[in-house]
Amino acid sequence: MELWSIKDIDVEKKRVLIRCDFNVPKDEFGNITDDRRIRAALPTIRYCLDRDCKIILASHFGRPKPGEWNEDRDSLKPVAKRLHSLLKQDIIMANNVVGDDTMELAKNLKEGEILLLENLRYNPGETANDSEFAARLASMADVYINDAFGASHRKHASIFALPEHFPVGKKAAGFLMQKEVNFFDKMVKHPVRPFVAVVGGSKVSGKLQALINLVEKVDKLVIGGGMAFTFLKALGYEVGNSLVEDDLIEDAIKIMDRAKEKGVKFYLPVDVVVAPKFAEDTTVKYLPIQEIPCDWMGLDVGPATNRLFREALNDAQTILWNGPMGVYEMDKFSKGSFMMSHYIAESHATTVVGGGDTADVVQRAGDVDEMTFISTGGGASLELLEGKLLPGVEAVLKSRA
Ligand code: AMP
Repeated sequence: MELWSIKDIDVEKKRVLIRCDFNVPKDEFGNITDDRRIRAALPTIRYCLDRDCKIILASHFGRPKPGEWNEDRDSLKPVAKRLHSLLKQDIIMANNVVGDDTMELAKNLKEGEILLLENLRYNPGETANDSEFAARLASMADVYINDAFGASHRKHASIFALPEHFPVGKKAAGFLMQKEVNFFDKMVKHPVRPFVAVVGGSKVSGKLQALINLVEKVDKLVIGGGMAFTFLKALGYEVGNSLVEDDLIEDAIKIMDRAKEKGVKFYLPVDVVVAPKFAEDTTVKYLPIQEIPCDWMGLDVGPATNRLFREALNDAQTILWNGPMGVYEMDKFSKGSFMMSHYIAESHATTVVGGGDTADVVQRAGDVDEMTFISTGGGASLELLEGKLLPGVEAVLKSRA
């Protein structure tokens, strides 16, 4: 899967529109709490600065409904401030997305200047993949660069309709986008073996297609989190009030049968942390999965499972992790996820982490620097694992031209 790279095209002194993913978390006071996505866009921005480009940055932020305009909640102004402090240069902040005044600002940009458009989703054309909106965005620039991996699974105007307005040689992927796609593509197609996938999170339904795809590629599949209970129930265990998707029991059986057929080693929790209710102040018990009381629920994997999973990771050369092992947001149920983070971090394997919650666990566990690669896109990385061609990838794919 080869993408047009920003290095393949001539950007020198050009007016370049870079679609970034600046959709970063903020606290209740409006402060950015994690600027990884902003920092991840810097290599592409700096590359353009070094080539005296006139730079137009575009991103969505949050989920304003089409036409809804909530300045405090969804404006990109805090991002402009953070960019200013990271790049140590002024950022021209537009008041809107494609208004006449913004078009004028884009037209008058000088070499080395940066204009940040307002939240793309303020314009209803963005989520509608509207070609008129895309045409207006396109008219601002000579070159289009997609560096918004985290948004590339969405068929939105700035991702899909916009690059249609640029011929081959005038559109490409930025460095972040290339890195993300290359990591997942290489890992899934040519992993150094043994290749272990650790999948957790809440439900099977959210990751069913990824599991079906992964079972064909991996040597070992380790399942934790809420989704484990659908598999355990499928094996005949009493799982009490734990999260179970009864309608997916058939699929769970199919995945386990396929693993057996392919010789893929399949690991499920052997013990769990159970509680009578979903609350921080509840009583908890550590029990083997055979002993889950009928009105309690499993909210984390237990200590025996941690040891088992560690053993399973021992000889891994490639590890993919997507989804926490328990309700890590509550202290009492966070240990399984933190232990998993430490085990993966300590391993000598190539380690790739996907999914916003999983990246959050790794950050809280203090293991960020030990991982080979942490994806900036939850939904997008999952769709790559499902084997899908993302709209944003398709638009800058070499073989498509
Ligand atoms: P996902 O978005 O599917 O990766 O799921 C992440 C969420 O799964 C986190 O918010 C966890 O709190 C939740 N989760 C993990 N384990 C469990 C569990 N045993 N029961 C309920 N929710 C869980």
